[in-house]
Amino acid sequence: MSGLALSNYRRLVIKVGSSLLVDEDDQLNRIWLEKLSDDVADLSQQGHELLIVSSGAIAIGSSVLGINKQRARLEDLQAAAAAGQVQLVHAYQECLRVHEIAAAQVLLTPDDTEDRRRFLNARRTLEKLLERSVIPVINENDTVATIEIRYGDNDRLAARIAQLVMADALILLSDVDGFYTADPGSDEDAKHIAEVTSINSETLAMAGETRSDVGTGGMATKVQAAGIAMHAGCSTIIASGVIPHPLRALNDGGRCTVFRASASPAAARKQWLAGALEVSGELRLDDGAVKALLGGSSLLPVGVVTVSGSFRRGDVVTLRSASGVDIGRGLAEYSDEEAVRLAGLHSDEIETALGYRGRAVMVHRDELVLFDND
Ligand code: GLU
Repeated sequence: MSGLALSNYRRLVIKVGSSLLVDEDDQLNRIWLEKLSDDVADLSQQGHELLIVSSGAIAIGSSVLGINKQRARLEDLQAAAAAGQVQLVHAYQECLRVHEIAAAQVLLTPDDTEDRRRFLNARRTLEKLLERSVIPVINENDTVATIEIRYGDNDRLAARIAQLVMADALILLSDVDGFYTADPGSDEDAKHIAEVTSINSETLAMAGETRSDVGTGGMATKVQAAGIAMHAGCSTIIASGVIPHPLRALNDGGRCTVFRASASPAAARKQWLAGALEVSGELRLDDGAVKALLGGSSLLPVGVVTVSGSFRRGDVVTLRSASGVDIGRGLAEYSDEEAVRLAGLHSDEIETALGYRGRAVMVHRDELVLFDND
């Protein structure tokens, strides 16, 4: 027993691989999903926030449409994904409903996590779902993604989601119970590693080659995903899902590998912001706003006195006090033109000023870093 307890990690992204959810005949393994849903319900009872990244759409859809995955073209797989996704998410919805938990389908393409404006949109939506205790069931939008613009595998997508929502842990459930010094399937001397604290060339060599068949990323993609997550302050846990109650087993100290992040997600985000090279504009704030920021609040339009520079939503802006002191920086929720229109207004005046509903804050507290000016 490794003694790992999930209680140290509040916000969890759980990645479910196709091989767990779908059997050899491409049929959904409903019983397994019911048990996973029991675990999900237990964890949310214990105060965890959960997001699920689930594969399986292409596999299930292939059986619906009678497509042979091995010989299928991209458009066949995309059609399969469309037919399979609806069944996949419906199954989650039904299994979670038994526990009075609502599920929400979220389909993403890489633009949604790589482009900062869309990143902010996706993030706020997921936050709202979590606030309402709804479980997002996330997959790549395979139906419109093309080869050049795919995440390619859900390990990577799950890592991006973990980064997006500042998750404390990313749990990759698959057919292996952790990371080994070599492929345990082909090397009987392969040794299980319980903890990894940094990913280096040796780790990558042990992970081996990336496999490219649909729905199986292999160990290399898991390690790459762990790298993305660790960079964002999120620990990654690789554990076996080939058992009836995988999350319960993990919580009870079952075997796994933890890729342990050294910083917290908030610290990693702030470090990234502080080091961002491109700053596109500046907001000058009144004293009340500066005080509110120091107290941990978001920046509201009412506290903005002047706006300068040229920026779009999601760009980095400098925050300056009325007397010109550089107090920090953050991601603008509005473009410079919108910010000019909103400066000094109360949040309930935003809709009239812009002609659409808009967002309540100018810079969200999770998206800003304050410098130490003492
Ligand atoms: N998005 C694909 C599906 O749902 C799976 C990709 C993967 O498992 O890595 O079928």
